[in-house]
Amino acid sequence: MPLIIAHRGASGYLPEHTLPAKAMAHAMGADYIEQDIVATRDDELVVLHDIRLDRVTDVATKFPGRRRDDDRYYARDFDLVELRTLNAWERMNADGSAVYAQRYPAQTGHFRVHTLAEEIELIQKLNNATRRQTGIYPEIKRPAWHREQGVDIAPLLLTQLAQYGYRNHDDPVFVQCFDDAELRYLREDLGCPLKLVQLIGENQWQEADTDYRILRTADGLKQVAATADAIGPWLSHLYAVGHDGENNVATGLTQMAHDLGLAVHPYTFRSDDLPAGFTTFDELVLFFALELGVDALFTDFPDTARQILKDGRV
Ligand code: CA
Repeated sequence: MPLIIAHRGASGYLPEHTLPAKAMAHAMGADYIEQDIVATRDDELVVLHDIRLDRVTDVATKFPGRRRDDDRYYARDFDLVELRTLNAWERMNADGSAVYAQRYPAQTGHFRVHTLAEEIELIQKLNNATRRQTGIYPEIKRPAWHREQGVDIAPLLLTQLAQYGYRNHDDPVFVQCFDDAELRYLREDLGCPLKLVQLIGENQWQEADTDYRILRTADGLKQVAATADAIGPWLSHLYAVGHDGENNVATGLTQMAHDLGLAVHPYTFRSDDLPAGFTTFDELVLFFALELGVDALFTDFPDTARQILKDGRV
């Protein structure tokens, strides 16, 4: 059965990357829980999907005047003690409306921004209490940008992970990044022994200077395999909609990666935002598990995805 990775926690139900969403994902039996990592002004590692705060917190109300010239608020411009005063909200659009209308309502609730250390402690305590081993899946967000802002996240992250017992390749942790140079830096310069995941997006997303069109070729994947243990492609990289609009077909990327020894962990499986070519969440999950044979699923709905895999006898 593919591993279930709780994408930003059980984010289909509670605001992304809040501790309650992480506890819920644990209770739902996620195999891994994701943490997106950004750095504060005082070099603390906090769990936030984005380097910016304004669409997931009430920062604009609490700290008017702390925006940059682009009218956005950046976590890097705030000390941890300041971030702790914010309400963390379900993701919203620029106009304040919810990105996902059926989820926890935007601009409501009493949730907080938290540190990576706090989240690891929560997961480890829940692991002890439930006698289950849920792993962690941290992503270094925008490493090159952070370096320009005066902080190098990778060594800070590795030190913290080691403090919490994540030191060896077999430990229950995957470190992910969109930036291929960062993965080589982790492996070659910092001697990181942990499992590494190369995220693959679209060049126009501007997540990194990485050329994803090249990474998705045989030669590109060979380069990735020299450093990483897995790829995290966008799910639309792995299939094409059939001519009849129904019979979806594999692009071959999963097979190519498997042939090179790379596991395949696509993102993001959302029952309220189905990709082209699928009419139900069951169909989507089972196609990726059975037809493509992926090794893990990033999902906002860990419980539903798990149940579909069970019912489908995957
Ligand atoms: Ca992420």
